[in-house]
Amino acid sequence: MKTKTSRRCPLCEQDEPRLIMQLTLDQIVRANPAYERDVIEQALTGEEGGLTYSQCHGCGMVYCPHSWGDEVLKVVYGKALDYEKSRANTLSIHKRIWLVDLWGMLLRLVSIQGYEKLGGLKLIDYGCGWGDFLEVVKGYGVEGTGYDEDPKKVKFAAERGVRVARNMEELSSFGPVDIFVMNSVLEHLQDPASILKYAWDHLQPGGYLMFGVMDYRKKFLARNAKTVGRGNPASTHNLNPIEHVNIYDYRTARASGQKAGFRFLGTETVLRWAMHPRIRLGRPWMWLFNEMERLSYHIVKDGDRPLTMFFRKPV
Ligand SMILES: [Zn+2]
Repeated sequence: MKTKTSRRCPLCEQDEPRLIMQLTLDQIVRANPAYERDVIEQALTGEEGGLTYSQCHGCGMVYCPHSWGDEVLKVVYGKALDYEKSRANTLSIHKRIWLVDLWGMLLRLVSIQGYEKLGGLKLIDYGCGWGDFLEVVKGYGVEGTGYDEDPKKVKFAAERGVRVARNMEELSSFGPVDIFVMNSVLEHLQDPASILKYAWDHLQPGGYLMFGVMDYRKKFLARNAKTVGRGNPASTHNLNPIEHVNIYDYRTARASGQKAGFRFLGTETVLRWAMHPRIRLGRPWMWLFNEMERLSYHIVKDGDRPLTMFFRKPV
């Protein structure tokens, strides 16, 4: 089915979306307790029909084909987030362990390239939020800087002594960097390809890109489409086409990095296996582990599960 749209596929740029989920404002508000119904309703007037997810006929990417205006986005982002809960999550020990692990992986990637010592290692955290990852990487020999569009988070991060660029010009002047990080960013962007290009432009040759998105497999989406079709809220508040305009899975996330020119290294899971001292990211092992994960794509039915991917800009 071809519908008139204002947003092309963010992965392959084709304009042949097939509708898979149509939500109502009621379903969105019921799944997002932080939303103030009246405010959202007023902002959305005339655009309720845009609360949809479609799948690209060309590449299979799931996305919202509606382009939201700045006014809607300002209201939704301003009212959407439960700040207390989100900030409290930065104190989660589980989350801190995960961030330390990710940093450990990035350092091991650098060390496997033959570097023995730190010194002038530069990192950008785009969409740094409260700055908790930048706090983890902070230390002698590492220079990290962040960027975030949410002034409350930026203020908090700066108070914790984290360096956050005030605007994109300042961020750009910090590069080129060795590591570019984006956690929970690509889902939100109308044009994710442009920020992947930005990452490419601001990375040194041989530099690393790490990004994290939520992984929504086909069966999880189909199950939710049924639930939503019956008039109930989705099983996760993350299925919200205003905030999460791009819905990734293993295949489309991997393809997004590769389309931007990066060489795919592996997911967090694969890197954990392949960083064993005897394997040390050996190419045949990496190939085998990546193939295993690629094939498991058809078996794993998860949704709402974080997926972190590592890429390298060719030297
Ligand atoms: Zn596509």
